[in-house]
Amino acid sequence: MTLAHGHELIAIPGPSPLPARVMNAAHRASPDIYGEPLAQVNLSLMAQLKRLAGTDAHLATYIGNGHAGWEAAAANLLDRGDRVLLLTSGHFGRSWADMLEATGIEVERQDSGNLPPDPQRLSERLRRDAQGGIRAVMVCQTDTASATMADIPAIRAAMGDHPALLVVDAIASLGCAPMRMDDWGVDVLIAASQKGLMSPPGAAFVWFSDRAAAESPTGLTTPWWDWRPRAGAEALWRFWGGTPPVQTIFALSEALTMILDEEGLEAVWHRHARLARAVWAAVDAWGADGSGIRLSVDDPDARAASVTAVTLPRAAELRAWVTRECGVTLGVGLGAPEPENALRIAHMGHTGAGTVMGVLGAMQAGLIALGIPHGPGALEAAAASIAASA
Ligand SMILES: *Cc1c(COP(=O)(O)O)cnc(C)c1O
Repeated sequence: MTLAHGHELIAIPGPSPLPARVMNAAHRASPDIYGEPLAQVNLSLMAQLKRLAGTDAHLATYIGNGHAGWEAAAANLLDRGDRVLLLTSGHFGRSWADMLEATGIEVERQDSGNLPPDPQRLSERLRRDAQGGIRAVMVCQTDTASATMADIPAIRAAMGDHPALLVVDAIASLGCAPMRMDDWGVDVLIAASQKGLMSPPGAAFVWFSDRAAAESPTGLTTPWWDWRPRAGAEALWRFWGGTPPVQTIFALSEALTMILDEEGLEAVWHRHARLARAVWAAVDAWGADGSGIRLSVDDPDARAASVTAVTLPRAAELRAWVTRECGVTLGVGLGAPEPENALRIAHMGHTGAGTVMGVLGAMQAGLIALGIPHGPGALEAAAASIAASA
């Protein structure tokens, strides 16, 4: 008989759990989209989104997911035949490169396996691009498949005075780990509503610097994707290129009030860091005695705050067991060399110590039930990590 009762725990890296307050905020009849009240909520949402990214620059919002954010950035900056350098450190960076290539953009990939990009390699490559043929350097802050964390300030520094624009995908890291777009010199930042921002899927955001805003439209800049009418729009419908996603606006506005005004952005980053360390402590303990269980990234500074990727023999069986018996859903081992022996534990957005200990506890039960060899003391280690970081 299954023990999958009570609240289900969803620990996949997006869409992430929604707070009841955010769901309730969306539970509203559609208002007049030409009315002042909705226009005011939308304006304050735009201001919240800029605070979140650490920028005073421009913001364009789209109805869409993260892929729409990728497309929006490309459509405004690049043309067919343009050259970009994409620093890939996992499945998401690689599929971003594939999408750009299919659009007709020339993508040079600097691949670092399933590890974060190496700023030194970047700087060496750009030094050989004296004519400045590379229009943009593009990178995922967190590649959600490999659970890596790129060092964005180091990447910016490595670009030196090369004129390329720096384009960062923060879809899985914004609202989980530090992002200071203006201070760090990021030209274009891409995110979406459904990961760290604990909101329903359906909104994509593209923040862009004055330098990016000065780029001329290209052959790819069709009217709907054009970011200029959206940024600084006067009429509400222009912000979203048509009917605004009203319920998503209400939900996001509530979620960002919780993040920015109630918990506070720095506290949110700190919470994610603490929860991540607890998960790593458990995995390290399971990995003792040559069990073959291990974190995919060795260097703690190079690990994502929002998701942890684990190599674990028979992971697919374990995932099925914890879902069926405990009501806990773990992420698949996306892009891992052996996906059936890999999984991901998300700890992004609306999550805390109870959730993380519950997820780890269910995994512990599954390891025992299935007879998967593992080191002892994982739950003790996670609890000790939480206790020590208080
Ligand atoms: C989830 C994700 C995407 C894709 O976002 P969708 O909303 O699924 O389209 C792109 N990049 C990263 C880093 C992601 O985590």
